[in-house]
Amino acid sequence: SQYIDNIEDKNDEINAVISIDKERALGRANQIQQRIEDGSAGSLAGMVVGVKDLICEKDIQATCASNILSDFESIYDSTVIKRLRDEDAILLGRLNMDEFAMGSSTENSIYGPTRNPSDTSKVAGGSSGGSAAAVAADFCTASLGSDTGGSIRQPASYCGVVGLKPTYGRVSRHGLIAFASSFDCIGPLTHSVEDAAILLQTIAGSDEHDNTSSSRAVPDYQQFVKDPDVNIKIGVPEEYFGEGLDDEIREGIEQKLDSLEESGAELVPIHLPHMKYSIATYYILATAEASSNLARYDGIRYGHRADIEEVEQELKEEKQALEKELKTATGEEQEEVSSQIQDIDSSLIRLYKKSRTEGFGPEVKRRIMLGTYVLSAGYYDEYYGKAQKVRRLIKQDFTEAFEKVDVIASPTAPTTAFELGSKNENPMQMYLNDIYTTSANLAGICGLSVPAGTDSDGLPYGLQFMADTFEEGKLFNAGRLIE
Ligand code: GLN
Repeated sequence: SQYIDNIEDKNDEINAVISIDKERALGRANQIQQRIEDGSAGSLAGMVVGVKDLICEKDIQATCASNILSDFESIYDSTVIKRLRDEDAILLGRLNMDEFAMGSSTENSIYGPTRNPSDTSKVAGGSSGGSAAAVAADFCTASLGSDTGGSIRQPASYCGVVGLKPTYGRVSRHGLIAFASSFDCIGPLTHSVEDAAILLQTIAGSDEHDNTSSSRAVPDYQQFVKDPDVNIKIGVPEEYFGEGLDDEIREGIEQKLDSLEESGAELVPIHLPHMKYSIATYYILATAEASSNLARYDGIRYGHRADIEEVEQELKEEKQALEKELKTATGEEQEEVSSQIQDIDSSLIRLYKKSRTEGFGPEVKRRIMLGTYVLSAGYYDEYYGKAQKVRRLIKQDFTEAFEKVDVIASPTAPTTAFELGSKNENPMQMYLNDIYTTSANLAGICGLSVPAGTDSDGLPYGLQFMADTFEEGKLFNAGRLIE
């Protein structure tokens, strides 16, 4: 009830929550209360969790903040949802995001932007901006987001909450609407490192519905939280503290690292030389995968379908106009016009095109076009093939680094939350925001953003720890040390 009151009070302004089902949540709360009383409650009893609107819950909307899925309701539960429910978490509502998780500010949403609870003239970050803001504004105990290139960690940094991107394959993607399948990870956003560990404990583990989920045993993460080791080796990569990083963030993070050193940690200067290619590599590979994944939205099998009568009318008018032109055309022109008449779409093809044109927003269209381009026959080797090779080099940098250190520390993002609208005109500016986060997704390793302070305007920023694949325990350990 407290969370529902907070939402009713503040969500008009923050716009983190796009729908709640009060009756259902309160009903669940009562049932769980009963189970607590008779001693049969699950390990998450009482935890109220908000869910990014791309993780499927049976019979509930999953719109991806897109027109193309605006009427879509899932017919099944994703694995993470099932696991949360089995442990008696209460699922309160659906959270705002960038359309199809493409963006860094939660401004690419059919529901309008989410605002940062610390300062509502600023963005909440993205694409899981709703998930970060909902936790920061106390609309829920914790939330689930997804991270393809930084979408959990960056909004966590902007909103002053903890955000975990698990190792690729640690958490099942079954029921997560796909953006870039070799990058996508579901993870928690929470108030504390301990809550992140508790949630990961519940959602991690192999799943017969996702062949990329790992069958490795899930360790007991509590041991890393309860008694964190102070004598850890922390790699400090020079490349993550260079040009473009806000001075206040640099100083704040250096201070945090110094204090860890004083209490027993060893700081090891390291190099990740291919990091400078991570944004370019990420935006080639992620758009390629997105263009393929989003091909399924054709207006026939899922979501928004254009009006077939309008489509037929449009085709008829185009044909009539060309036939009229043909009558007055001569020579080459005549040939040109008759080939245009030949090439007019069939009504099915035009229905696909119109449905997609109406359904997708501008950023999603940009990604589909970029992705289709880098995969096209003439450019495949030059872009997609080359980016795959660079991805391997980036991964190798990390493998070598983790032979020497337990975790790597860096800023999560180069700045604190920016002004709403300030980067919308320039997609490159927006993409540069992901400079410190995309490499973890390229390498498949895990990363945790922990609140590390606020700048002189009172805006929060995070410190990111990265650890080798399946070493989330080391992240929790390091995270606890700076909390
Ligand atoms: N900001 C990045 C993008 O726009 C990352 C998104 C994500 O992690 N889902 O692609």
